[in-house]
Amino acid sequence: MARVIVITSGKGGVGKTTTTANLGMSLVQLGYQTALVDADIGLRNLDLLLGLENRVIYTALEVLSGECRIEQALIKDKRQPGLVLLPAAQNRNKDSINAEQMKYLISLLEPQYDYILIDCPAGIETGFHNAIGPANEAIVVTTPEIAAVRDADRVIGLLEANGIKQITLLVNRLRPQMVKANDMMSVADVKEILAIPLIGVIPEDECVIVSTNRGEPLVLEKKISLPGLAFEHTACRLDGQQVEFLDLQSYSKGPLKRLRKFFLGSSNT
Ligand code: ADP
Ligand code: MG
Repeated sequence: MARVIVITSGKGGVGKTTTTANLGMSLVQLGYQTALVDADIGLRNLDLLLGLENRVIYTALEVLSGECRIEQALIKDKRQPGLVLLPAAQNRNKDSINAEQMKYLISLLEPQYDYILIDCPAGIETGFHNAIGPANEAIVVTTPEIAAVRDADRVIGLLEANGIKQITLLVNRLRPQMVKANDMMSVADVKEILAIPLIGVIPEDECVIVSTNRGEPLVLEKKISLPGLAFEHTACRLDGQQVEFLDLQSYSKGPLKRLRKFFLGSSNT
């Protein structure tokens, strides 16, 4: 039976789509058949982050209207056999699909995949409820900022109210130097406020923006970056492996940049 995991946050722009793309790729690298479902109807961008935008022909809506079969809508990633994307429609709004239909789509995928990751839209309205409906687990993504953490707290409450018990926390865009200077919440602060288990910590790094623009998820890069490594570790934890959290402080930019390059250039683990 597939593990169906929704990647959600409440607040927009905190890294849900980036997380979905990179965790999906990492899970395939771990040997799992993985389907990524874009539930952000009208504002899709998972296809862009994966560099698959030119291959979208059908979307979830054509599957539902009977215009095509699910296999026709799924885009297979040539770089990463084992990964498929079910794109969302771009020219429709979030009300063009309902929770039952979303559950139906996921039920079509469940027999064939080990992991199904659902990229949730921002907000807590229809699109959110559609995306969380079929999920039995959730990863709540937040940045260490007060507004994002408060929205994450609200979302955790809603997930619990909807019967999702397995909820983990991913803290994205951490800036260790700012934490050290007391200008940013630490991971421990965020964890204490939200009181759910931590699955990953991803540092702020401009290479994430570059990878977004290129449509090349970080975890595919030959010379893995620090955020790429942190996403890989997150996938391993999702898979039940015990992986120590990276000491991001010691990898920070500035005088330690060379050291970071040295370690990451010589090791892939
Ligand atoms: P969401 O899906 O939650 O709206 P995205 O995944 O689309 O968020 O990310 C929003 C923007 O933030 C993107 O431009 C992305 O490149 C950038 N971003 C995400 N995570 C990081 C990070 N760790 N460091 C730097 N930029 C990031
Ligand atoms: Mg998104």
